Amino acid sequence: MRDQRLFKAIDKEYQRQRHNIELIASENYVSKAVLEATGSILTNKYAEGYPNARYYGGCSYVDEVEDIARDYLKELFGAEHVNVQPHSGSQANMAVYMAFLKPGDKILGMSLKSGGHLTHGYKLNFSGGLYEAITYDVDEKTEMLDLDMIRNIALKERPKMIVCGASAYARSIDFKGFRDIADEVGAYLFVDMAHIAGLCATGAHMSPIPYADVVTSTTHKTLRGPRGGIILCKEQYAKAIDKSVFPGSQGGPLMHVIAGKAQCFYEALQPSYTEYIDQVVKNAKALGETLVDGGLRLVSGGTDNHLLLVDLRNLGVTGKEAEELLDEVDITCNKNTIPNDPQKANIASGIRLGTPAMTTRGFKEAEFRKVGELILQVLKYKDDQRMLRMIKEEVRKLTSAFDYRPVSEDYYE
Ligand code: PLP
Repeated sequence: MRDQRLFKAIDKEYQRQRHNIELIASENYVSKAVLEATGSILTNKYAEGYPNARYYGGCSYVDEVEDIARDYLKELFGAEHVNVQPHSGSQANMAVYMAFLKPGDKILGMSLKSGGHLTHGYKLNFSGGLYEAITYDVDEKTEMLDLDMIRNIALKERPKMIVCGASAYARSIDFKGFRDIADEVGAYLFVDMAHIAGLCATGAHMSPIPYADVVTSTTHKTLRGPRGGIILCKEQYAKAIDKSVFPGSQGGPLMHVIAGKAQCFYEALQPSYTEYIDQVVKNAKALGETLVDGGLRLVSGGTDNHLLLVDLRNLGVTGKEAEELLDEVDITCNKNTIPNDPQKANIASGIRLGTPAMTTRGFKEAEFRKVGELILQVLKYKDDQRMLRMIKEEVRKLTSAFDYRPVSEDYYE
């Protein structure tokens, strides 16, 4: 018997996902097959350990599942060794630090305010508590990473590990340049490609695999899989990484999620996924151009990837206001600080917009130009309730034409 309250809540979220324009840069819509694998009976199984070396009986079939996931992932990125067990991106990052560092060791990562992730050394995160974390920022003028600046910090601070990768950075990252710096100062290079993993897989962004000692990612962003984490590394670090995940920082792997990851990697190996990623990038450019034509400024002046950081100050709206206004018309995004933001993080002067989710729904440049115009109208006519109602109707028309129906409409009722 289903709990009515619970399934009503799930159904409401399903309808929200179908009807809203989803612009959160770290989100996506999984396929029916990923959903089926993730919601499968594999959730019943304990499988501590790794294929052919488990601490539980009855693991022969889940061994097959994990082997399939590992094989596809290696193929997708050309990696020597992979671990598909991390429950999340943060868990993957924790396992990496534990494998390579001792508490108190120095790490150099991108600051949160420049677009880095909490796990790259933020003081309230374990990474900033357990390790001596120092940070680099984007250049004040260009709002882009400046390798000379980062090199100077690295030469002065001599970190044991350099972390690169970001949560809110719209430009390409030169992993080779980071490798050179790491070599010069004798540091490990750790790349967290969570946001851009899909682009790295298809070649739309430089792959970190040839340059980094170790790479992590989430599987639920551009990769379009279930929520989770992965680690890819050179063979020489395989044992240390595996030990660091289990038993170092996790217990039993989530075999249903690993099955969802396997299906996701399989899908990412198909030619249609490369087309998808190319469209994600084209759509981000089209959205950016529309917003700029409408008077908004893009941080760093543009985008090379799937996301845009939009400075809203020209229209006199804060990030918090914009997030709430857009939510009213069923456009979902998140407020985000911009470099040197005069506002606090919970207000922010910008929003972060991403194209992966709506590209999965089938949006192309024309639809994203329309989305850009709708956003501009919301911000310009924010006090006009009639206008906001009309925009909401436009949103509904657009999303209905590109519906998301992995299960029947009454599935969760
Ligand atoms: N690394 C980066 C660059 C991210 O953007 C994120 C999530 O937003 C993570 C790691 C953490 O992933 P999770 O939320 O699965 O812990």
